Amino acid sequence: MAEPEFTFELRVCRWAERHWPPEGRERAALVARQLGTKRRRWDTVVVEVDADALARRARFGRRRLDSDLLHVVRHAPDEWAWYRDALPDPGYPWRYVRETIHEADDRGILDVRRRGRRLEIRRRHEYPEWVRRVVAVENKPDLDASAAHDLRPQLERDVALVLADEVWVATRATGDRVEPALLESIPVEAGILTFDGDDAEVAWFPRTLDANAPGTRILERPKGGTYDQSAARFEYVSPEAKREKRLEIAERAYERGWRSYARTMRPDCRYYELRHENETMLPYCAAKERHQTAAECSGRCSKFEPEPPAWRQKGWPIEGGPGKAIRRLLESRRERSRPG
Ligand code: SF4
Repeated sequence: MAEPEFTFELRVCRWAERHWPPEGRERAALVARQLGTKRRRWDTVVVEVDADALARRARFGRRRLDSDLLHVVRHAPDEWAWYRDALPDPGYPWRYVRETIHEADDRGILDVRRRGRRLEIRRRHEYPEWVRRVVAVENKPDLDASAAHDLRPQLERDVALVLADEVWVATRATGDRVEPALLESIPVEAGILTFDGDDAEVAWFPRTLDANAPGTRILERPKGGTYDQSAARFEYVSPEAKREKRLEIAERAYERGWRSYARTMRPDCRYYELRHENETMLPYCAAKERHQTAAECSGRCSKFEPEPPAWRQKGWPIEGGPGKAIRRLLESRRERSRPG
């Protein structure tokens, strides 16, 4: 059986963590999987960061700040002030802002006090500008001409919206050079990375997109053909809205990284292993004798068997069994791989 797309995705993430950017210049980056917006989820997201600013971001804790929290902490004043004087109108009822202020207080990232009936706030730390660029990678290990044709509309949407500064397609090397027909099917603005095992080469460099310009969301496009005279439907997305969305994506990437798959898979199954292949540690199922997908490795798997309690007492004396140890190992790698 061919390697699942999930395993390919982990290889891409690991490669990006070690080798980003492909042109070889020094740039700190965070890598995450399966992030995006309600309408579009990217397979791999690389957030290029200012390493010093990222270190200051750590003062807000390891958990992400959602859009409501970002609104509060980014606009919180240096001196005590009534929250309604200090913060811009959120565009939704103030009572939700009060809830967010209490949440920020509980998380220790905002100073909050009561003065009579008034709730006052004060900045605890300045929220740094830590995100430099957001790069989206679509993983298509088996990119033949028909897969490239199917992928094209999606990439065109990404390029038109310009939420990411660069868009790439990652695919498996076939031994041949990338076919010209395939290059023609992918928009010229998107880059192509070809993977041979854990090594990657650039087959086509992408164009840097202007993420600060307004974006165009393609809502509907005509199917084409002789009788289809319908017009495409678009909507414009302001640079401010895109900036907010990019920061939310970056915050989620900061919290999750790409090794969080251990939270949804079953490392507590007796057949779950992590195997080192060249530079990448990949989940492996000893029962199925292959790399399993994230979807099949669940409590519903017909071969799932909990790890025996004895494993928890013998070779794994510290706390929990191999399953917990695998989770801890992935967590510690996640921490170590954070820039800054
Ligand atoms: S048997 Fe099923 S649950 Fe256990 S490791 Fe394999 S795929 Fe995962």
